[in-house]
Amino acid sequence: MDPILDGLNQAQRTAVASPSPVLQVLAPPGSGKTKTLTARVAYLLSHHGFRPQDVICCTFTIKASREMRERLSRLIGEQVQSKLVLGTFHSICRRYLVAYGHLIGLRKGFGIADSNDSLAIIKRIVKRSRLNILPNTARSRISSQKAQGISWEEVAEKTKTQNVEQQEFVKVYRDYESALAASNLLDYDDLLLRCADLLRSHPQCVSNVQAVLVDEFQDTNRIQFELMNLLASCQRCITIVGDPDQSIYGFRSAEIKNLERMQRLYSNTSVVLLEDNYRSSGSILGSAEEVIQQDTSRPVKKLLPTHGVGTMPVLRKLPSAAAEAQWMVTEIKRCIALTGSLLKHSDFAVLLRSASLSRQIESEMGKQGVPYRMVGGSRFFDRVEIRLLLDYLRVISHPENNDALIRIINTPARKMGEETIKTLTTGAEKDKLPLWNYVKDVAQGRRSTQKNLSKAADVGLSGFVGLIESARRKLEECADASSPKILLEFIIKKLGFREYLGVTYPLDEENRWANVEELLAQAGDPSVEASQDDALADIDGLEQQQGHAGEEALSRFLANVALSTEVKTEENQAEEKVTISTIHAAKGLEWPVVFVAAVYEGIIPHSRAEDSDEERRLLYVAMTRAQALLYLSLPRRDSKNGEETRPSSFLPRTITETKFRQVGPKLHDQIIFDIAEILRRPRPSQEAMVEGLKGLPSIYDDMWNPDGDDDGPNKATRWDGSEAGQESWAKRRR
Ligand code: ATP
Ligand code: MG
Repeated sequence: MDPILDGLNQAQRTAVASPSPVLQVLAPPGSGKTKTLTARVAYLLSHHGFRPQDVICCTFTIKASREMRERLSRLIGEQVQSKLVLGTFHSICRRYLVAYGHLIGLRKGFGIADSNDSLAIIKRIVKRSRLNILPNTARSRISSQKAQGISWEEVAEKTKTQNVEQQEFVKVYRDYESALAASNLLDYDDLLLRCADLLRSHPQCVSNVQAVLVDEFQDTNRIQFELMNLLASCQRCITIVGDPDQSIYGFRSAEIKNLERMQRLYSNTSVVLLEDNYRSSGSILGSAEEVIQQDTSRPVKKLLPTHGVGTMPVLRKLPSAAAEAQWMVTEIKRCIALTGSLLKHSDFAVLLRSASLSRQIESEMGKQGVPYRMVGGSRFFDRVEIRLLLDYLRVISHPENNDALIRIINTPARKMGEETIKTLTTGAEKDKLPLWNYVKDVAQGRRSTQKNLSKAADVGLSGFVGLIESARRKLEECADASSPKILLEFIIKKLGFREYLGVTYPLDEENRWANVEELLAQAGDPSVEASQDDALADIDGLEQQQGHAGEEALSRFLANVALSTEVKTEENQAEEKVTISTIHAAKGLEWPVVFVAAVYEGIIPHSRAEDSDEERRLLYVAMTRAQALLYLSLPRRDSKNGEETRPSSFLPRTITETKFRQVGPKLHDQIIFDIAEILRRPRPSQEAMVEGLKGLPSIYDDMWNPDGDDDGPNKATRWDGSEAGQESWAKRRR
């Protein structure tokens, strides 16, 4: 048997080995779409003789691309895998722009504006022009226009009316675009748009591409769809996998219609459906199905479990958000204890509608000493101290970055107040110079400002310019991949950064310094993503832009930072931690035990959401992340306004709280048996179980004995883990 097809079911094998060049694999969650896509990559390489550098594979998140690399390493070997063009649409587009951006007039060494940068620029514009538009609103509107490929000129064209709001928007959009250009920055949308421009005008850049594969296709937007077609324009060999029921990015202009569009565009599209679910227990699937079937406009599809019924999902209503957090964390601890060595911290995930709900849970985890990591919330790289160091690196990497420059010019303080900075920025604008060039001229006496700077400010400015210049010389000397780490160390030393942290954050110095150390470790780690940036395949007659190795390593490091959603760095990933994540960021992933918190009206569905079907799909996605145990919960009162909550109208009727109580308890060992079966793990030994039970206040309550108000042995006695004790407990329950 071909090892690539080994471990796949018949339908999956059909898809993997399909001779059809254009293939859609459509299937519900947990049916092995990503697994199939990964195997297809391996199959194309080994059976069709494609070179890895000629195969492009797009995943939805960086985490997903990392996982796919790991799976592929096992299937086709590390060497081959590292040559694949594999990553998110954004990171793939960046690679093409780095190599060939000069063909469309992109300046060399462009930086990437992450969403914080974008917001900062917009805030500045709004403030300076005294506009009424909310920066956040403006940002998402700009992004949605860009995702549809609509430029500010086109918006202006359409809005010739006197509508003030519209005019304000056009102004922000226009100024935003010119601010990006002035700083030689591309935002997330630009990466896609400009790459599409490039491929449209220079299709030879992708003349080598043999196949394009896309995961989570249901969440591609218009421009990503076009990119997929452009990337595949030569051989028109495309495989996509997706599930319309899991489309949750409509708010970011994703278009489910892309599935039909693709079928129209490629009349030779074959469709393979997968049905068997390998992820979740039967009862979890049943409840999830109940949720998605409330949408009667969709074709009815069955979710066919390959596992047993398992333990019923649990619904809990708790007095407050704090109590809900406390219950979840206690439950996690108890699950671990009760199942002996079967479950560990990393088997648990708490999924939330929005990152802002995480505060209570994080603080409770801290209180009870449960290790956790947060995904999809505010990122590691967004912490103040990290951001500051990164801004230094960005300015060193390309000094035209005006916004980063403004942020660091007087931090740590160099006696330049707001006035001074304003004098400098207006001066630069007037002289039509990038701020850095202007500032350098002033510091070095080649240019004078309109208003004289104070003596102290003058000294401060010279010091700053000297620092950046010496760092840039250092970068020139360092012609290899170690540049990010070397420069970070240089800056930290020159700024006296540790002391700066001590003075600025006397109560929190240790923590912040630990973060800095983490950043240093990451900068020194030629991690998986770095290998993604190996040069693209050579194409005859087409020169790739070459640069200085140290500069490239630094710019690659900064791009990885900008495109990352990680909250922690690489090394911590492997540690045993509970994951707290937004539902959006949990897409495509799975955990043995999943808690979906705050399932009430106003949160799911969200009060500001426009598309209630999408909100329902969101709950569906959340529930289908669970393999063995699923908990849904809500507080009786909303923590913000104190109002009584109503359980989400999407909640499946079969798992109302009362119904669950009537279902009655399952035997402890039956539950363990179920979990072990689903996770394909060995059952823990009696000794491990007895050990785990020590120190627990009560072994059977809540899910283990939901109707614990009778005189069950959970009150009177405590099972000691022995066979005999278990038997007697079981008898009494019957
Ligand atoms: P989602 O829609 O959530 O992204 P998916 O369809 O991509 O789900 P995968 O993540 O590929 O599903 O697979 C779900 C789980 O099922 C994984 O743990 C995978 O290893 C397992 N799995 C998939 N196919 C098989 C199979 N044929 N035999 C055993 N396990 C399988
Ligand atoms: Mg998947």
